[in-house]
Amino acid sequence: MARNIVWHPFTQHAVEPAPTRIARGKGAWLETSDNRRILDAISSWWVVTHGHRHPAITSAIHEQIDKLDQVIFAGFTHEPAEKLADKLIHFAPRGLAHVFYSDSGSTAVEVALKMALGYWRNIGAPRTRIAALEHGYHGDTIGTMSAGSRGVFNAAYEPLLFDVVRIPFPHAGREQQTLDALERACREAPLAAFIVEPLIAGAGGMLIYGAETLSEMKRICERHGALFIADEVMTGWGRTGTMFACEQARITPDILCLAKGLTGGSLPLAATLATSRIFEAHVSEDRSRTFFHSSSFTANPVCCAAALANLTIWETEPVLDRIAKLAALQEAGLAALADDPRFENRRRLGTIAALDLKVADSGYLAQAGPLLRAHFLANEVLLRPLGNTVYVMPPYCTTAADLRLVYDAIRSIPPLT
Ligand SMILES: *Cc1c(COP(=O)(O)O)cnc(C)c1O
Repeated sequence: MARNIVWHPFTQHAVEPAPTRIARGKGAWLETSDNRRILDAISSWWVVTHGHRHPAITSAIHEQIDKLDQVIFAGFTHEPAEKLADKLIHFAPRGLAHVFYSDSGSTAVEVALKMALGYWRNIGAPRTRIAALEHGYHGDTIGTMSAGSRGVFNAAYEPLLFDVVRIPFPHAGREQQTLDALERACREAPLAAFIVEPLIAGAGGMLIYGAETLSEMKRICERHGALFIADEVMTGWGRTGTMFACEQARITPDILCLAKGLTGGSLPLAATLATSRIFEAHVSEDRSRTFFHSSSFTANPVCCAAALANLTIWETEPVLDRIAKLAALQEAGLAALADDPRFENRRRLGTIAALDLKVADSGYLAQAGPLLRAHFLANEVLLRPLGNTVYVMPPYCTTAADLRLVYDAIRSIPPLT
Protein backbone atom coordinates (compact mmCIF):
# COMPACT_ATOMS: atom_id res chain seq x y z
CA MET A 1 0.00 0.00 0.00
CA ALA A 2 2.94 2.31 -0.61
CA ARG A 3 0.80 4.56 -2.76
CA ASN A 4 -1.18 5.58 0.31
CA ILE A 5 1.84 7.26 1.85
CA VAL A 6 1.43 9.98 -0.75
CA TRP A 7 -1.86 11.80 -0.31
CA HIS A 8 -2.97 13.08 -3.71
CA PRO A 9 -5.04 16.22 -4.37
CA PHE A 10 -8.75 15.89 -5.20
CA THR A 11 -8.31 12.12 -5.06
CA GLN A 12 -10.58 9.61 -3.33
CA HIS A 13 -8.02 6.97 -2.44
CA ALA A 14 -10.71 4.43 -1.49
CA VAL A 15 -12.08 4.07 -5.01
CA GLU A 16 -9.66 5.50 -7.52
CA PRO A 17 -7.06 3.40 -9.30
CA ALA A 18 -3.39 3.83 -8.43
CA PRO A 19 -2.02 7.01 -10.00
CA THR A 20 -0.22 6.78 -13.34
CA ARG A 21 3.51 7.19 -12.82
CA ILE A 22 5.00 9.77 -15.22
CA ALA A 23 8.71 9.74 -15.96
CA ARG A 24 9.14 12.23 -18.80
CA GLY A 25 7.42 15.05 -20.62
CA LYS A 26 8.10 16.79 -23.93
CA GLY A 27 5.89 19.20 -25.83
CA ALA A 28 2.25 18.13 -25.55
CA TRP A 29 3.18 14.58 -24.47
CA LEU A 30 3.85 12.79 -21.20
CA GLU A 31 5.55 9.43 -20.94
CA THR A 32 4.91 6.86 -18.20
CA SER A 33 7.66 4.96 -16.41
CA ASP A 34 6.66 1.90 -18.48
CA ASN A 35 7.04 3.91 -21.70
CA ARG A 36 3.41 4.58 -22.62
CA ARG A 37 2.71 7.97 -24.20
CA ILE A 38 -0.14 10.17 -22.99
CA LEU A 39 -1.28 13.39 -24.66
CA ASP A 40 -1.54 16.13 -22.02
CA ALA A 41 -4.86 17.56 -23.24
CA ILE A 42 -5.45 19.61 -20.06
CA SER A 43 -1.95 21.08 -19.90
CA SER A 44 -1.28 19.36 -16.57
CA TRP A 45 -4.09 21.23 -14.79
CA TRP A 46 -4.03 24.31 -17.01
CA VAL A 47 -0.44 25.38 -16.38
CA VAL A 48 1.64 24.26 -19.38
CA THR A 49 1.31 26.79 -22.20
CA HIS A 50 4.06 26.28 -24.82
CA GLY A 51 4.53 22.58 -24.03
CA HIS A 52 6.57 20.59 -21.53
CA ARG A 53 10.28 21.41 -21.39
CA HIS A 54 10.41 24.26 -23.88
CA PRO A 55 14.19 24.53 -24.49
CA ALA A 56 14.35 28.28 -23.75
CA ILE A 57 12.71 27.75 -20.36
CA THR A 58 14.75 24.72 -19.33
CA SER A 59 18.03 26.40 -20.25
CA ALA A 60 17.06 29.56 -18.33
CA ILE A 61 16.40 27.37 -15.29
CA HIS A 62 19.79 25.64 -15.68
CA GLU A 63 21.61 28.96 -16.02
CA GLN A 64 19.92 30.57 -13.03
CA ILE A 65 20.36 27.66 -10.64
CA ASP A 66 24.10 27.79 -11.25
CA LYS A 67 24.14 31.43 -10.07
CA LEU A 68 21.61 31.81 -7.26
CA ASP A 69 19.04 29.27 -6.07
CA GLN A 70 17.13 31.20 -3.41
CA VAL A 71 17.43 34.36 -1.35
CA ILE A 72 15.23 36.14 1.19
CA PHE A 73 13.15 38.78 -0.65
CA ALA A 74 12.68 41.23 2.23
CA GLY A 75 15.60 43.67 2.25
CA PHE A 76 17.14 41.83 -0.74
CA THR A 77 16.43 41.69 -4.43
CA HIS A 78 17.84 40.11 -7.58
CA GLU A 79 17.95 40.66 -11.31
CA PRO A 80 15.44 37.99 -12.43
CA ALA A 81 12.72 39.42 -10.14
CA GLU A 82 13.38 43.00 -11.24
CA LYS A 83 13.54 42.23 -14.95
CA LEU A 84 10.42 40.10 -14.70
CA ALA A 85 8.48 42.84 -12.89
CA ASP A 86 9.42 45.32 -15.65
CA LYS A 87 8.25 42.93 -18.33
CA LEU A 88 5.02 42.04 -16.53
CA ILE A 89 4.11 45.72 -16.26
CA HIS A 90 4.96 46.13 -19.95
CA PHE A 91 2.65 43.28 -21.05
CA ALA A 92 -0.15 43.73 -18.52
CA PRO A 93 -3.14 46.01 -19.15
CA ARG A 94 -1.98 49.65 -18.97
CA GLY A 95 -2.24 51.21 -15.51
CA LEU A 96 -0.90 48.36 -13.40
CA ALA A 97 2.33 49.56 -11.86
CA HIS A 98 3.52 47.21 -9.10
CA VAL A 99 4.22 43.48 -8.85
CA PHE A 100 3.97 41.39 -5.68
CA TYR A 101 5.29 37.83 -5.98
CA SER A 102 4.03 34.65 -4.35
CA ASP A 103 3.93 30.97 -5.28
CA SER A 104 0.50 29.81 -6.41
CA GLY A 105 -2.79 30.99 -7.81
CA SER A 106 -4.35 30.71 -4.36
CA THR A 107 -1.71 32.92 -2.76
CA ALA A 108 -1.97 35.42 -5.65
CA VAL A 109 -5.68 35.76 -4.83
CA GLU A 110 -5.12 35.87 -1.04
CA VAL A 111 -2.64 38.68 -1.66
CA ALA A 112 -5.18 40.49 -3.84
CA LEU A 113 -7.87 40.31 -1.15
CA LYS A 114 -5.42 41.49 1.53
CA MET A 115 -4.24 44.37 -0.70
CA ALA A 116 -7.86 45.44 -1.19
CA LEU A 117 -8.67 45.48 2.53
CA GLY A 118 -5.31 47.07 3.33
CA TYR A 119 -6.00 49.81 0.81
CA TRP A 120 -9.32 50.83 2.38
CA ARG A 121 -7.95 50.68 5.92
CA ASN A 122 -4.83 52.65 5.05
CA ILE A 123 -6.74 55.47 3.39
CA GLY A 124 -8.86 55.75 6.52
CA ALA A 125 -12.14 54.53 5.01
CA PRO A 126 -12.27 50.86 6.00
CA ARG A 127 -14.29 48.55 3.78
CA THR A 128 -14.33 44.78 4.16
CA ARG A 129 -17.25 43.58 2.00
CA ILE A 130 -16.18 41.36 -0.89
CA ALA A 131 -18.40 40.47 -3.85
CA ALA A 132 -17.73 37.50 -6.12
CA LEU A 133 -19.27 35.89 -9.15
CA GLU A 134 -21.42 32.76 -8.82
CA HIS A 135 -19.62 29.57 -10.04
CA GLY A 136 -16.30 31.27 -9.26
CA TYR A 137 -13.17 29.37 -8.29
CA HIS A 138 -10.22 31.20 -6.79
CA GLY A 139 -8.24 28.50 -4.99
CA ASP A 140 -8.40 26.10 -2.07
CA THR A 141 -7.13 28.14 0.89
CA ILE A 142 -9.67 29.42 3.43
CA GLY A 143 -9.77 32.92 1.95
CA THR A 144 -9.99 31.83 -1.67
CA MET A 145 -12.59 29.17 -0.86
CA SER A 146 -14.62 31.95 0.76
CA ALA A 147 -14.59 33.91 -2.49
CA GLY A 148 -15.27 30.78 -4.55
CA SER A 149 -18.59 29.07 -4.94
CA ARG A 150 -19.68 26.70 -2.19
CA GLY A 151 -20.43 23.02 -2.53
CA VAL A 152 -19.33 19.55 -1.55
CA PHE A 153 -15.70 20.59 -2.03
CA ASN A 154 -15.74 23.02 0.87
CA ALA A 155 -18.74 21.97 2.99
CA ALA A 156 -16.51 20.71 5.84
CA TYR A 157 -14.78 24.08 6.15
CA GLU A 158 -17.91 26.24 5.83
CA PRO A 159 -17.77 27.52 9.44
CA LEU A 160 -14.34 29.06 8.73
CA LEU A 161 -15.31 30.75 5.46
CA PHE A 162 -16.20 34.44 5.41
CA ASP A 163 -19.35 35.74 3.77
CA VAL A 164 -19.21 37.29 0.35
CA VAL A 165 -21.91 38.97 -1.71
CA ARG A 166 -22.66 36.45 -4.47
CA ILE A 167 -23.43 38.01 -7.86
CA PRO A 168 -25.36 35.72 -10.28
CA PHE A 169 -23.33 34.41 -13.22
CA PRO A 170 -23.97 36.28 -16.49
CA HIS A 171 -25.39 33.32 -18.45
CA ALA A 172 -26.28 34.18 -22.06
CA GLY A 173 -29.47 36.24 -22.10
CA ARG A 174 -29.30 36.96 -18.37
CA GLU A 175 -26.42 39.44 -18.35
CA GLN A 176 -28.62 42.32 -17.25
CA GLN A 177 -29.56 40.46 -14.06
CA THR A 178 -25.87 40.18 -13.21
CA LEU A 179 -25.27 43.87 -13.80
CA ASP A 180 -28.38 44.84 -11.82
CA ALA A 181 -27.35 42.62 -8.91
CA LEU A 182 -23.86 44.13 -8.86
CA GLU A 183 -25.30 47.64 -8.98
CA ARG A 184 -27.64 46.78 -6.08
CA ALA A 185 -24.79 45.25 -4.05
CA CYS A 186 -22.72 48.41 -4.51
CA ARG A 187 -25.61 50.62 -3.36
CA GLU A 188 -26.57 48.48 -0.35
CA ALA A 189 -23.22 49.04 1.36
CA PRO A 190 -19.79 49.96 0.06
CA LEU A 191 -17.86 47.04 -1.45
CA ALA A 192 -14.14 46.70 -0.78
CA ALA A 193 -13.71 44.66 -3.96
CA PHE A 194 -15.40 42.56 -6.58
CA ILE A 195 -13.45 39.51 -7.75
CA VAL A 196 -14.09 37.78 -11.09
CA GLU A 197 -12.59 35.27 -13.45
CA PRO A 198 -12.66 37.32 -16.67
CA LEU A 199 -14.66 35.84 -19.61
CA ILE A 200 -14.74 32.26 -18.33
CA ALA A 201 -15.39 30.51 -15.03
CA GLY A 202 -12.89 27.63 -15.22
CA ALA A 203 -13.32 25.13 -12.40
CA GLY A 204 -16.96 26.22 -12.17
CA GLY A 205 -17.58 24.34 -15.43
CA MET A 206 -15.92 26.30 -18.26
CA LEU A 207 -18.81 28.78 -18.37
CA ILE A 208 -18.23 31.59 -20.85
CA TYR A 209 -19.57 35.15 -20.84
CA GLY A 210 -19.00 38.18 -23.04
CA ALA A 211 -16.37 40.92 -22.97
CA GLU A 212 -19.18 43.49 -22.99
CA THR A 213 -20.47 42.17 -19.65
CA LEU A 214 -16.94 42.15 -18.22
CA SER A 215 -16.40 45.81 -19.13
CA GLU A 216 -19.87 46.73 -17.79
CA MET A 217 -19.07 45.06 -14.46
CA LYS A 218 -15.83 47.02 -14.30
CA ARG A 219 -17.69 50.26 -15.05
CA ILE A 220 -20.19 49.64 -12.24
CA CYS A 221 -17.37 49.02 -9.75
CA GLU A 222 -15.59 52.18 -10.91
CA ARG A 223 -18.74 54.23 -10.46
CA HIS A 224 -19.12 53.03 -6.87
CA GLY A 225 -15.43 53.00 -5.97
CA ALA A 226 -15.24 49.23 -5.47
CA LEU A 227 -11.87 47.72 -6.39
CA PHE A 228 -11.99 45.31 -9.33
CA ILE A 229 -9.89 42.14 -8.94
CA ALA A 230 -9.31 40.08 -12.10
CA ASP A 231 -8.32 36.52 -11.29
CA GLU A 232 -6.47 35.61 -14.51
CA VAL A 233 -4.75 32.61 -12.94
CA MET A 234 -6.31 30.37 -15.58
CA THR A 235 -7.22 32.86 -18.32
CA GLY A 236 -3.80 34.51 -18.46
CA TRP A 237 -1.01 33.67 -20.89
CA GLY A 238 -3.08 33.29 -24.03
CA ARG A 239 -5.72 30.80 -22.97
CA THR A 240 -8.63 32.94 -24.12
CA GLY A 241 -7.01 34.04 -27.40
CA THR A 242 -5.28 37.18 -26.09
CA MET A 243 -2.43 37.31 -23.60
CA PHE A 244 -4.89 38.39 -20.91
CA ALA A 245 -8.68 38.05 -21.02
CA CYS A 246 -9.07 41.64 -19.74
CA GLU A 247 -7.65 42.89 -23.06
CA GLN A 248 -10.79 41.72 -24.86
CA ALA A 249 -12.91 43.99 -22.66
CA ARG A 250 -10.32 46.80 -22.85
CA ILE A 251 -10.24 47.07 -19.07
CA THR A 252 -7.49 47.46 -16.52
CA PRO A 253 -8.39 45.84 -13.21
CA ASP A 254 -7.20 47.49 -9.99
CA ILE A 255 -5.58 44.18 -9.08
CA LEU A 256 -4.57 41.35 -11.42
CA CYS A 257 -3.76 37.79 -10.26
CA LEU A 258 -1.38 35.66 -12.33
CA ALA A 259 0.08 32.18 -11.79
CA LYS A 260 -0.23 28.86 -13.70
CA GLY A 261 1.22 29.76 -17.13
CA LEU A 262 3.45 32.53 -15.75
CA THR A 263 6.50 30.25 -16.01
CA GLY A 264 5.08 28.49 -19.05
CA GLY A 265 3.91 25.95 -16.49
CA SER A 266 7.43 24.80 -15.60
CA LEU A 267 7.78 25.98 -12.00
CA PRO A 268 5.45 27.42 -9.36
CA LEU A 269 5.33 31.22 -9.34
CA ALA A 270 2.56 33.77 -8.95
CA ALA A 271 2.29 37.52 -9.22
CA THR A 272 -0.32 39.98 -8.03
CA LEU A 273 -0.19 43.27 -9.95
CA ALA A 274 -1.66 46.46 -8.53
CA THR A 275 -2.17 50.07 -9.56
CA SER A 276 -0.07 52.77 -7.94
CA ARG A 277 -3.12 53.94 -5.95
CA ILE A 278 -3.10 50.65 -4.05
CA PHE A 279 0.67 50.54 -3.64
CA GLU A 280 0.88 54.18 -2.47
CA ALA A 281 -1.78 53.55 0.19
CA HIS A 282 0.68 51.10 1.75
CA VAL A 283 3.66 53.48 1.62
CA SER A 284 3.86 55.51 4.81
CA GLU A 285 6.10 56.64 7.67
CA ASP A 286 3.57 54.76 9.74
CA ARG A 287 4.91 51.22 9.72
CA SER A 288 1.51 49.74 10.57
CA ARG A 289 0.53 50.45 6.95
CA THR A 290 3.11 47.98 5.63
CA PHE A 291 1.74 45.23 3.42
CA PHE A 292 2.15 42.33 5.82
CA HIS A 293 2.50 39.32 3.57
CA SER A 294 5.30 37.00 2.54
CA SER A 295 6.00 33.45 1.45
CA SER A 296 9.35 31.84 2.19
CA PHE A 297 9.97 31.48 -1.53
CA THR A 298 8.71 34.91 -2.59
CA ALA A 299 10.23 35.66 -6.03
CA ASN A 300 12.43 32.56 -6.09
CA PRO A 301 15.19 33.44 -8.60
CA VAL A 302 14.92 30.18 -10.56
CA CYS A 303 11.14 30.55 -10.92
CA CYS A 304 11.58 34.20 -11.97
CA ALA A 305 14.16 33.15 -14.58
CA ALA A 306 11.70 30.58 -15.95
CA ALA A 307 8.98 33.27 -16.14
CA LEU A 308 11.37 35.67 -17.88
CA ALA A 309 12.13 32.97 -20.44
CA ASN A 310 8.39 32.51 -20.92
CA LEU A 311 8.00 36.23 -21.68
CA THR A 312 10.94 36.09 -24.08
CA ILE A 313 9.14 33.28 -25.91
CA TRP A 314 6.10 35.56 -26.17
CA GLU A 315 8.35 38.28 -27.61
CA THR A 316 10.29 36.15 -30.07
CA GLU A 317 8.00 33.30 -31.17
CA PRO A 318 4.62 33.50 -32.97
CA VAL A 319 2.68 32.48 -29.85
CA LEU A 320 -0.54 34.29 -30.79
CA ASP A 321 -0.48 32.62 -34.23
CA ARG A 322 -0.13 29.21 -32.60
CA ILE A 323 -3.01 30.06 -30.31
CA ALA A 324 -5.19 31.14 -33.25
CA LYS A 325 -4.39 27.89 -35.09
CA LEU A 326 -5.13 25.77 -32.04
CA ALA A 327 -8.38 27.68 -31.53
CA ALA A 328 -9.42 26.89 -35.12
CA LEU A 329 -8.58 23.20 -34.60
CA GLN A 330 -10.63 23.16 -31.40
CA GLU A 331 -13.56 24.74 -33.24
CA ALA A 332 -13.33 22.05 -35.94
CA GLY A 333 -13.16 19.32 -33.29
CA LEU A 334 -16.33 20.61 -31.65
CA ALA A 335 -18.05 21.00 -35.03
CA ALA A 336 -17.35 17.36 -35.84
CA LEU A 337 -19.34 16.43 -32.72
CA ALA A 338 -22.23 18.72 -33.67
CA ASP A 339 -24.64 15.94 -34.59
CA ASP A 340 -23.75 13.68 -31.65
CA PRO A 341 -26.93 13.72 -29.53
CA ARG A 342 -25.05 12.74 -26.35
CA PHE A 343 -23.56 16.22 -26.04
CA GLU A 344 -24.93 19.70 -25.51
CA ASN A 345 -23.65 23.23 -24.92
CA ARG A 346 -20.63 22.99 -27.21
CA ARG A 347 -18.60 26.12 -26.48
CA ARG A 348 -15.15 27.56 -27.02
CA LEU A 349 -13.13 30.54 -25.89
CA GLY A 350 -9.66 30.88 -27.40
CA THR A 351 -7.86 27.57 -26.94
CA ILE A 352 -10.43 26.21 -24.47
CA ALA A 353 -13.17 23.91 -25.81
CA ALA A 354 -15.92 22.37 -23.68
CA LEU A 355 -19.12 20.39 -24.05
CA ASP A 356 -21.55 18.78 -21.64
CA LEU A 357 -22.45 15.11 -21.58
CA LYS A 358 -26.21 14.80 -21.20
CA VAL A 359 -26.87 12.80 -18.06
CA ALA A 360 -30.25 11.81 -16.63
CA ASP A 361 -29.43 12.12 -12.93
CA SER A 362 -26.52 13.97 -11.47
CA GLY A 363 -26.00 11.52 -8.59
CA TYR A 364 -24.43 9.26 -11.12
CA LEU A 365 -21.95 11.93 -12.13
CA ALA A 366 -19.59 10.93 -9.35
CA GLN A 367 -19.21 7.52 -10.98
CA ALA A 368 -18.98 8.88 -14.52
CA GLY A 369 -15.83 10.87 -13.68
CA PRO A 370 -13.49 7.94 -12.97
CA LEU A 371 -15.01 5.93 -15.86
CA LEU A 372 -14.44 8.79 -18.30
CA ARG A 373 -10.87 9.35 -17.10
CA ALA A 374 -10.10 5.64 -17.53
CA HIS A 375 -11.60 5.65 -21.03
CA PHE A 376 -9.49 8.64 -22.08
CA LEU A 377 -6.30 7.18 -20.59
CA ALA A 378 -6.91 3.91 -22.43
CA ASN A 379 -6.96 6.09 -25.57
CA GLU A 380 -3.62 7.79 -24.71
CA VAL A 381 -5.29 11.03 -23.70
CA LEU A 382 -5.24 12.91 -20.38
CA LEU A 383 -8.65 14.52 -19.93
CA ARG A 384 -10.30 15.16 -16.58
CA PRO A 385 -13.96 16.16 -16.92
CA LEU A 386 -15.52 18.58 -14.44
CA GLY A 387 -18.75 16.78 -13.53
CA ASN A 388 -20.46 16.17 -16.87
CA THR A 389 -18.39 18.85 -18.61
CA VAL A 390 -15.70 17.48 -20.89
CA TYR A 391 -13.16 20.16 -21.73
CA VAL A 392 -10.01 20.26 -23.81
CA MET A 393 -7.25 22.74 -22.88
CA PRO A 394 -4.01 21.56 -24.50
CA PRO A 395 -0.58 23.23 -24.76
CA TYR A 396 -0.17 25.56 -27.74
CA CYS A 397 2.25 23.17 -29.51
CA THR A 398 -0.51 20.55 -29.89
CA THR A 399 -0.79 19.47 -33.53
CA ALA A 400 -3.85 18.69 -35.66
CA ALA A 401 -2.98 14.97 -35.44
CA ASP A 402 -2.67 15.18 -31.63
CA LEU A 403 -6.03 16.89 -31.34
CA ARG A 404 -7.67 14.30 -33.60
CA LEU A 405 -6.77 11.70 -30.95
CA VAL A 406 -8.55 13.79 -28.34
CA TYR A 407 -11.76 14.22 -30.31
CA ASP A 408 -11.71 10.54 -31.39
CA ALA A 409 -11.50 9.64 -27.70
CA ILE A 410 -14.45 11.92 -26.93
CA ARG A 411 -16.46 10.47 -29.83
CA SER A 412 -15.78 6.93 -28.60
CA ILE A 413 -16.97 7.49 -25.01
CA PRO A 414 -18.76 4.21 -24.22
CA PRO A 415 -22.23 4.00 -22.65
CA LEU A 416 -21.63 4.85 -19.00
CA THR A 417 -24.36 2.83 -17.33
C1 LIG B 1 -6.23 27.24 -10.51
C2 LIG B 1 -6.87 28.52 -10.13
C3 LIG B 1 -6.56 29.16 -8.92
C4 LIG B 1 -5.66 28.53 -7.89
O1 LIG B 1 -4.38 28.36 -8.36
P1 LIG B 1 -3.37 27.34 -7.59
O2 LIG B 1 -2.05 27.59 -8.21
O3 LIG B 1 -3.92 25.96 -7.86
O4 LIG B 1 -3.43 27.69 -6.15
C5 LIG B 1 -7.10 30.40 -8.68
N1 LIG B 1 -7.93 30.98 -9.56
C6 LIG B 1 -8.27 30.40 -10.72
C7 LIG B 1 -9.17 31.11 -11.66
C8 LIG B 1 -7.76 29.14 -11.04
O5 LIG B 1 -8.13 28.54 -12.19
